[in-house]
Amino acid sequence: ATLSNGDAHPLAKIPSIKFTKLFINGEFRDSLSGKTFETVDPRTAEVIVRIAEGTKEDIDVAVKAARDAFDNGPWPRMPGVARAKIMLKFADLIEENAEEIAALDAIDAGKIYNFCKNGDIPQVAATLRYYAGAADKIHGQTLKMSRDLQGYTLMEPIGVVGHIIPWNFPSIMFFAKVSPALAAGCTMIIKPAEQTPLSALFYAHLAKLAGIPDGVLNVIPGFGATAGAAISSHMDIDAVNFTGSTEVGREIMQAAAKSNLKPVSLELGGKSPLIIFDDADIDKAAELALIGILFNKGEICVASSRVLVQEGIYEEFEKKLVEKAKAWVVGDPFDPKVQQGPQCDKKQFEKILSYIEHGKRQGATLLTGGKPIGDKGYYIEPTIFADVKENMLIAQDEIFGPVLCLFKFKTIEEAIKMANNTRYGLAAGLVTKNIDTANTVSRSIRSGIVWINCYLAFGNDAPYGGYKMSGFGRDFGLDALHKYLQVKSVVTPIYNSSW
Ligand code: ADP
Repeated sequence: ATLSNGDAHPLAKIPSIKFTKLFINGEFRDSLSGKTFETVDPRTAEVIVRIAEGTKEDIDVAVKAARDAFDNGPWPRMPGVARAKIMLKFADLIEENAEEIAALDAIDAGKIYNFCKNGDIPQVAATLRYYAGAADKIHGQTLKMSRDLQGYTLMEPIGVVGHIIPWNFPSIMFFAKVSPALAAGCTMIIKPAEQTPLSALFYAHLAKLAGIPDGVLNVIPGFGATAGAAISSHMDIDAVNFTGSTEVGREIMQAAAKSNLKPVSLELGGKSPLIIFDDADIDKAAELALIGILFNKGEICVASSRVLVQEGIYEEFEKKLVEKAKAWVVGDPFDPKVQQGPQCDKKQFEKILSYIEHGKRQGATLLTGGKPIGDKGYYIEPTIFADVKENMLIAQDEIFGPVLCLFKFKTIEEAIKMANNTRYGLAAGLVTKNIDTANTVSRSIRSGIVWINCYLAFGNDAPYGGYKMSGFGRDFGLDALHKYLQVKSVVTPIYNSSW
């Protein structure tokens, strides 16, 4: 990999940061403790700005505002079409500010500026529009019941919801949670990851401009153990939605159980297999595998971190893959030539490098990469291991970085067994021209998504979430809308002669 250090775009310099405070009940405020924390630019490891640090007390204030907006405010009561109108305005405002928001995600998370501007940001506007279209189509059923009784179901918003989101897709994760919750008529508290609060605060500002009533959408930056835990254990939050690591997901579920038994939805880690069969176009398959692991520098829970290749094409596939990895351009995310920016933060950077060392120590063959790049920031070479045993740590743990493990298999049955040999079940991919192989494998893999002859293909209407220890509950699609609704049965006698 080569390090490109261009700064071709004017926003490559740190743009002026307009919003650094907590957003509660429609206004930006300091935290009650007065505490602040640093958000860091992973390109340089330098501090961008200090952000107000929300703690339990601030979460309490935000929950009171959200509760009042839910119990007494207009949002849950207005017709769905009125909520939709505001959500559509919100989407337009996001598109109008795409460059500025993309720059915030690029400096805060090390994401490729052009991908954010042309990918993430239009995508979040589309997510808002998708759910805006659903806001006036939420309805229950009529129930025939018996000769004397009739009933109907109401789909009611679940109430005040907490969203705890990660740092790898600060914009897409924000709207994956917020959009269906808004459509359902919920009010909410969002805690962005401590590494990436900047775009979330910008979205709070746009929400207000769009006309979302005060108290409906509150954004509280802060740390997981304090602000995050205050959300999952809160007695007056009705549901919590989380995307992040499996370890933290477990803590959130426990906190929810120990407090008010709020339902949780968890989108957790993955160790996703991509299976390449002998009849694949080797060049295209190698490209797919590489993008599957290197997109967003491997910081994506559906990364193709285990690539299983059938023995007939293994040698040639391996050669192509390594060639392509060596030509991959790592560097400043504002440089249009760059394909991979820095890892999100120091902790992540060190964790990835320690997994690479572990892989080497356990006897896997390092085909390419394995080292940091440059003398500042958190850049890591695209890294490929071969001769990986299924029980090695690098084959089992989610590394969340640009590290791919290659495996060889003979038969379909062996491929299915290897693919399922993981505690995770988020995504899987397969490349073949044989329809029977595609049908058999896609039904045999225990994961929430299977991509056939593609990878990382997303859509607002395609539910996204895990089997096994990758969690439960779905983002996107109408399945996600239903997380924010609950069903009430209303029953009445048809004719009550005693009255
Ligand atoms: P990573 O380990 O990759 O940083 P995490 O799962 O720790 O990812 O973080 C995802 C989100 O969960 C972040 O917003 C983080 O602040 C939050 N978080 C971390 N620990 C907790 C916790 N104990 N309770 C609630 N939220 C938490």
